[in-house]
Amino acid sequence: MCNKFKANPVSEGISIGETFHFCPYVPNVVEKQISEDDIQNALLQYENAQNKAKEELKLLQSHLKDDDSNKARIFDAHLDILFDAAMDEDIRDEIDDLNNPAFAVNKVYEKYIRIIGKSKDELIAERVADIRDVKNRLLRCLEGVEERNLAELQKPVVIVAYDLLPSDTATLDKNKVLAIITEVGGPTSHSAIIARSYEIPALLGLENAMNIITDQTEVIVDAVDGEIILCPTAEEKEEYSKKREKFLIKQKETKQYISQEAKSTDGTKIDVEINLGSASSNELQGGCQYTDGVGLFRTEFIYMGRPDLPTEDEQFEIYKKVLLVFKNSPVTIRTLDIGGDKKLDSMELPVEENPFLGNRALRLCLSNPQIFKTQLRACLRASVFGNLWLMFPMVGSLDDVRAAKKALQEAKDELDNENIPYNKDMKFGVMIEIPSIALLADMVAKEVDFVSIGTNDLTQYTMAADRMNPAVNKYYQSNNPAIYRLINYVTKEFKKQGKDVCVCGEMGGNKLSAPVLVGMGIRRLSMGLASVASVKKVINNLSIPQMEELASQVCQMETDKEIVDYLSEKLSDLI
Ligand code: PEP
Ligand code: MG
Repeated sequence: MCNKFKANPVSEGISIGETFHFCPYVPNVVEKQISEDDIQNALLQYENAQNKAKEELKLLQSHLKDDDSNKARIFDAHLDILFDAAMDEDIRDEIDDLNNPAFAVNKVYEKYIRIIGKSKDELIAERVADIRDVKNRLLRCLEGVEERNLAELQKPVVIVAYDLLPSDTATLDKNKVLAIITEVGGPTSHSAIIARSYEIPALLGLENAMNIITDQTEVIVDAVDGEIILCPTAEEKEEYSKKREKFLIKQKETKQYISQEAKSTDGTKIDVEINLGSASSNELQGGCQYTDGVGLFRTEFIYMGRPDLPTEDEQFEIYKKVLLVFKNSPVTIRTLDIGGDKKLDSMELPVEENPFLGNRALRLCLSNPQIFKTQLRACLRASVFGNLWLMFPMVGSLDDVRAAKKALQEAKDELDNENIPYNKDMKFGVMIEIPSIALLADMVAKEVDFVSIGTNDLTQYTMAADRMNPAVNKYYQSNNPAIYRLINYVTKEFKKQGKDVCVCGEMGGNKLSAPVLVGMGIRRLSMGLASVASVKKVINNLSIPQMEELASQVCQMETDKEIVDYLSEKLSDLI
C-alpha cells in the first residue's frame, strides 16, 4: 500500500508526529417517537448529557488563563443556558410527549433561537449564537461523541482537516500543533497565512486527506518538498530528522537578518511592515522590534471566535494598544473584511452561490451601516494615539471609494457633534484587490492618500481562480505576468502623483516576488512576522538596478512557470 503522498507546502518546515482528525461536529437529529415505557430512560439520557456538557464547560473554564475573562464570561453564559429553567421544562415536556431526547432538545432550542433572534435589542439577539453553541454541545453529548476542538489539544499533534476556518485557528494553541494538513486551501488561504505566522509546517490541498490519513497515525510531514509519509519506518524517521536539522540550521542563518534594517546594497531603505491578525503581545512585540510599522491589521479576527460583536469601546482599546506600541510608525487598520471564507458566529450571513463574489468586506459593511459605524468611530477615536492609516478592502469602483469616504465622514461628523477628538489628518486608503480598481489607478490616486495591493485577492480575481479550491490551484498563479503588469501599472500611476503604495498580500512576503516589487518602485512591503527575515535577506543582498532588471524581465515574460524558474535561478543563493 502506498504510504507517500504529495501536497502543496505553504508554510515551510518538517515535523514527525501523531495525527489528530479535526472535524467539527454536525448534529444528526431524527424525528422518532419513543414508547411510554422509554420516557424515564429518555429523561435520564437527557440529564446525563446535560451533566456531561456541564463537565466539559467547567473543564474549558479551568484551562483559561487569568486574563481570559471574556471567554470565562461566555462559558458562564453557556452554563446558564444549559440549565435554564424554562427551556429545561419545555424539553422534559417534549420527552413526556414521546419525542426522543435529541429531537426534543433540538425542537426547544430552535424555538428559543427563533424567539430571541427576533428581538429588537441587538444584545439579546446576539445570544442566538450562544444558544446554538450550547444546543450543539448538548446534542453531541446525547450522541456520546467526544469533543474535538483545537483550543484544548492535550499533546502536540499533526492536525488533519478538510479545512480550517479562521474561527478554528483563532483559538489554536500553536505549541500543540506540529503540522497542518488540509484537503482544501492554497498558499494564500487563511489557514496558510495563519500557519506561516505561527511557523507551523503546513501542506494544504491534499484531496481526500481525511480518508487517506487515518486518525492517531504516525506521519512525517515534509513541508519543504511537499511530502507526507504515513507510518514511517525507523530509517525514514532518521532520514527526515536529519533533513529537519539541516532545515533548522538554514532557517537559523536566515533569521539573523530579522534585526537588520531592510536596505538595498546601494542604500535604498525599504519599509518592511507587519501583517497583524490580532493585538496579542507576541505579534505586537515582534512587529514592533523588527518592522517599520503595521502594513495590515486584519481587524476581522477581533470579531471572530465570539458569539457577539465587539463594542466600540472594546475595539477602541485594541486599536489604541497597537498604536501606542508602534508609537509614530504607521499602523494600517483595515476595516472589517468578512465573507468569502471568513465567517462570524455573531452574524448570520446569507448562503451565496459565489461568496467570494458576493456581499463581502466593504460591501457587507455598507449594507450594515451600524456595524460599520461602530468600527469607524472606534478607529477615529483611537487615531489620536499614534499614526493610524485607515484602509478599506474589496473596493471595485470609484463609487465604492466614495461610499467608504462618505461613511467615514458621517462617523467624523458624529464625533464632531459629540466633541470627541480624532486625528483630522488621518490617512485614508483602499486596497487594490479587484482588477477593475487596479485599472483605474490614475483616478483612484486622486481620491486617496495611499493604496495597499492585496495580491491574494488580486490574483484570485484576475485569474478567476478561487484561492481556496485545490482543484483550480494550478490556475491561481500569483507569478503570472498579468499580475505583475497590474502591480506595475498601479505603482507607476501612484508614484506619478506622489502617493504611497504598499503590498500587503502574500507576494510582499515572498522571497521570489518581493525583490521584483521593489524593482517596480514599491518601497513598503507588509508581511507576516515569519517572512520578515527571509525578505530582508534577499533585499539586503541586491541593488536597486538588479531588482529593476528582475521587474523589467518578468513583465516581458509569458507564463507563471517561466517567471518562477527565472527568479528561482537568479535568486538561488538567497532563498
Ligand atoms: C489580500 O487579498 O491580498 C489581502 C491582504 O487580504 P486577505 O488575505 O485578508 O484577503
Ligand atoms: Mg483580501
